[in-house]
Amino acid sequence: MFRQMTTYGRFAFGLRRFLGEPATAERGRALIQQRLRDRNSDFLALVKGAVYSSGRGPYVPLLRMAGCEYADLERMVRSHGIEPTLERLRAEGVYITIDEFKCRYPIVRGTTTVECTPNDFDNPFLTAGLQASSSGSRSPGTVTTLSLERVGYVAFCQAVAYSAHGLLGRPVLLWMPTLPSAAGMVLLLELSKMGVPPVRWFSPVASSAIRPALSKRLATLYVVYAGRLLGASIPAPEYVGGDQVHVVLASLRQILEAGHGCVVHCSPSSAARLAHEARTEGVTLTDVTFVTGGEPLTPAKAAEIGAVGAHAVGLYASTEVGTIGFGCAGSATACDDIHVLESSHAVIQYERSTPFGGGPVQSLLFTSFHDRAAKILLNVESGDYGVLESRECGCEFGSLGLKRHLHSIRSFDKLTGEGMTFVGTDLVRIIEEVLPQQFGGTSIDYQMVETEGVGGRTRLDVLVSPDVGTVDEDAVVRQVLQQLARGSDTNRMMAEMWREKNVLRVKRERPHLTAGGKLLPLHIMKTTRG
Ligand SMILES: [Zn+2]
Repeated sequence: MFRQMTTYGRFAFGLRRFLGEPATAERGRALIQQRLRDRNSDFLALVKGAVYSSGRGPYVPLLRMAGCEYADLERMVRSHGIEPTLERLRAEGVYITIDEFKCRYPIVRGTTTVECTPNDFDNPFLTAGLQASSSGSRSPGTVTTLSLERVGYVAFCQAVAYSAHGLLGRPVLLWMPTLPSAAGMVLLLELSKMGVPPVRWFSPVASSAIRPALSKRLATLYVVYAGRLLGASIPAPEYVGGDQVHVVLASLRQILEAGHGCVVHCSPSSAARLAHEARTEGVTLTDVTFVTGGEPLTPAKAAEIGAVGAHAVGLYASTEVGTIGFGCAGSATACDDIHVLESSHAVIQYERSTPFGGGPVQSLLFTSFHDRAAKILLNVESGDYGVLESRECGCEFGSLGLKRHLHSIRSFDKLTGEGMTFVGTDLVRIIEEVLPQQFGGTSIDYQMVETEGVGGRTRLDVLVSPDVGTVDEDAVVRQVLQQLARGSDTNRMMAEMWREKNVLRVKRERPHLTAGGKLLPLHIMKTTRG
């Protein structure tokens, strides 16, 4: 408790400095360019200090196994650059899979075995900060520390994103969960530093539902009140449930009356839900830009958002990796096209197979070299795959030298349950497009739920929201199985087995959110055992 008070004291001191230096787009551009110039040195300094010198964590044994001492690393980076060095290290076994990062299994490379705990990935240079945790679908969430310096850096980058998308000066609404999820708090701090604290902060998750430790609830209010004392008009979070979307819409309409448009930070599914509510009420949302994160921004959701005159921009971030990229404002390849924040991150890809015969994916490996990053990441898998490419796009980020784009980002980890996977199937399209087209409703009205039933038997429920109205439940099951059977022989066999064993059932419930407020096509109901 005493330690916590000291942390809060230090945090208050840091908050004053944090809010005292506004994040403008101009300074953001200069910061990104400077960090791109210093990129190799920043990367080497962090690996030297946090990995080689500290001797902690799983990386030293892996690097030694690959025969890579610090001098070798420095030579490779100086002569070939960071990404080719990371590719080489990956080929030599220096990488961490998502299962290893979540400590589901030890790291085994040849004869080398490294056992680790989630804390082994912590940045040894971080001592104080607010604690946040990620929502794990198949493992306990990992705890990360939020550093104000790190949030400040992202605020400067976010200001550039606002400039690139023509959003500067617009009022902002925040619709993200409170702590222990980091998403809402990080954005609250960033927006306050940018001089556009949200007009209101809606949380899709009630604090009673996630039962965060009291300290986490206090921490949210602490930031709100400490910020207010320092002169920032920071709103306290207000819980809005799944059936209270009209509250958010009413607030948005009120803001729009002033004629300056609005930026809404929320998940793609929240944006789609709001778009649906607007359409039901006959309201158009011109001049509304949704900056979405936390879930994939899929073509179906982008189309539903576009249908009411609004626009969606992606923001790619995760609790462990931090903010990885901002939506491209130029000639984008896909609706979720983002610029990799190469000023603090490197991303490479490798082909890997997925559990339960899900087939190969181009998995993304992340390396973070901001010295206040929450975790030390050297070729760490996030569980996502996607398309990584370098190209000119003509937007502000591109002109700063950020040439690497990521798009069509999906999670193989979140499509995998306890005993089956939907990687290699078209689950996202079935849930978001096929079912709504045939049975009614929108992209957020259907969900696949994996539950462990009696005797440990895995059951799959297809949730159909009551909002959809009457449906022929057998027809829904038939359609899902028929769609899942398409593609590979494995898919056909799986679907056939599920049909024979009556694994699939329709349930008339609203799709579930994760503890972190995310709506995923596959939701895994945790069993109470173990
Ligand atoms: Zn661009």
